[in-house]
Amino acid sequence: SDLSRLILDRIRDVPDYPQPGVMFKDITPLLADPGAFAAVTDELAGLHEVDKIVGIEARGFILGAPAAYKARAGFVPVRKKGKLPAETFEASYDLEYGSAVVEVHRDAFAPDDRVLIVDDVLATGGTARATVELVRRTGAEVVAVAVLMELAFLKGRERLDGVKVHPLVVV
Ligand code: 5GP
Repeated sequence: SDLSRLILDRIRDVPDYPQPGVMFKDITPLLADPGAFAAVTDELAGLHEVDKIVGIEARGFILGAPAAYKARAGFVPVRKKGKLPAETFEASYDLEYGSAVVEVHRDAFAPDDRVLIVDDVLATGGTARATVELVRRTGAEVVAVAVLMELAFLKGRERLDGVKVHPLVVV
């Protein structure tokens, strides 16, 4: 589609970042393009009717916050451990070496809130899986996970069993 073309033409492949052997998808050219950034924001904002959009630190903030504004939804940050000031729920997930912990404020949602989770890239799915767990722990409903780009060869979708996944492009 036109949107996939717009996105794919503005994502830069950076070899060996952050580690040798990894081909990093750099979204900064897309963010810097006014038309492409607006098109992506509009698409994310129109996917589902939700009360809140969750952005996953840090690139999920850049995409999720303008989408929430456009959709007239609230914005909720999910952050790396230690960054949120009030009481939180935590979820950990495995990385290639070690593990990571993400947090959300316990009172971030009303009990019947419908929530869209937004991030830039779905890779192995660990980050999105942990975020789904966090939102569910608060009692709110995860409507879907939306990402700019799904890296299908990493099979992240398999770790999100039972969750709707909306990639704007799949590679
Ligand atoms: P996962 O937990 O699915 O393996 O990794 C997804 C998380 O790592 C996302 O928060 C995403 O921002 C980041 N990530 C992993 N690989 C890439 C990549 O190639 N490009 C970008 N922009 N982010 C990535």
